[in-house]
Amino acid sequence: MNALAQELAELIRQDGPISISRYMALCLGHPGHGYYMKQYPFGADGDFTTAPEISQIFGELIGIWAASVWQAMGAPDSIRLVELGPGRGTLMQDMLRAARALPGFRDALSVHLVETSPVLRERQRQTLASSGTAPQWHDRIEQALDGPAIAVANEFLDALPLDQFVRTPEGWRERLVGLHGEGGLAFGLAAEPDTSLSVAAPANSVLEQPAAALETVALVARHVATQGGAGLFIDYGPAHSGFGDTLQALKRHAFVDVLAEPGDADLTVHVDFARMAQAGLAAGAAVHGAVAQRDFLLALGLRQRFEALVRRATEAQGEALARGVERLIETGPTAMGELFKVLAVADPKLPLLPGFDLHRLPEQG
Ligand code: SAH
Repeated sequence: MNALAQELAELIRQDGPISISRYMALCLGHPGHGYYMKQYPFGADGDFTTAPEISQIFGELIGIWAASVWQAMGAPDSIRLVELGPGRGTLMQDMLRAARALPGFRDALSVHLVETSPVLRERQRQTLASSGTAPQWHDRIEQALDGPAIAVANEFLDALPLDQFVRTPEGWRERLVGLHGEGGLAFGLAAEPDTSLSVAAPANSVLEQPAAALETVALVARHVATQGGAGLFIDYGPAHSGFGDTLQALKRHAFVDVLAEPGDADLTVHVDFARMAQAGLAAGAAVHGAVAQRDFLLALGLRQRFEALVRRATEAQGEALARGVERLIETGPTAMGELFKVLAVADPKLPLLPGFDLHRLPEQG
C-alpha cells in the first residue's frame, strides 16, 4: 500500500466508505499525494500523451478557431483567452503562435489559466515565458471568467470527479470505496438505495453522475451567453448517453487497477457529451457539436496546415508531422479521431462556429 492508500484506509476506517467522486478527487488533487500535485505525467516516458503533445498543428488550429470566434464577436478590443487544465502549456503556446497571424486578436487577448497543480503551473510558466503574454493563474474557473471570453479545455472534463450508481433489485445503490477483509481498498455498494434516482435500466447497469463536469460546462455556457464568447471542450467519450463504468487508471501508457495505486496512476472517466450539451443549453448558451475530433480538425484545415509545414520541413520532420496528424484523426472506436469529441458552448448571437460546419467539409462524402 502506498502512502495515499494508507491514508484513505484510515479515513474509511473512521468515517466509513467514501464516494467515487471523493476517491477521484483525493487521488488527483490530494495536496501531498495527488497525482497532478506531485508529478509530471505527460509524454513518451510519462503516463499518457495528449493531442497538443502529439502535434503542434492541433494547438495551431485551435488558435485559428479562437481568432475566428473573436472576429465573429465583432473583434472586441479586450478578450480573455482562458484555458482549463493547461498541462504543460503546449496547447496555449501553439494557439498563441497561430494567433500572431491576426495582430488585432493578439493585441486584444489576455491569457488566463485555471490550474490547481503547483508543479504544472511552474511548467506552464516556463513554456509560455517567451510567448509575449503575461499569463495569470487561477484556482477556480469563476475567477478566470470576467467579460468576453474564449475558453478551451482539452482533456480537462475527464479528470473531474463523478459518482457512480449500480442498478440492483432494490433500486440504484451508490458505488463506494471501502475496505476488504485484509484492510485494502475495495469497491462496495451503499447499504440503502438512492431514492432520488428513478431511471429504468437492466440489472447491474452502472449510472454515472458527472456533477463537476456538468457544472463546469454550465458555468462557461452561462458566462459566454451573457458576456459574449465561446467555450470549447475536447475530450474522449460517447456522443450519446449510455450506462457503464468508465472509470479508468493509466500508468506508463497502460491501464492499471483503479484502486491499486491511488495518486500514482492517472484516474479519468469518459465524458458523456450528450449530457454536457444539455447542460450548456440549459445554461442559456447555443451548443455546437459534439463532433468527432477528426471532422473538427479536418474542417479547420488540418490538411492544408500540414502541407504548408511539410513544404518547409526536412524529410524526417515531414514524416514525424505526418505521423502526428494521422494519430490525431485516426478512425476506430478507441482511436483519437473518433473517440475524442469536440463540443462548443457559445453566445447564441454568434453564427455557427468554424469546425462545426461539417456539411461544407471538402473531405466528406
Ligand atoms: N490540457 C492538457 C492537460 C490535460 S491533463 C493537455 O491537453 O495536454 C489535466 C489538466 O487539468 C492538468 O493540467 C491538471 O493539473 C488539471 N486539473 C485537473 N483537475 C483540475 C481541477 N479541478 N481544477 C483545475 N485544474 C485541474
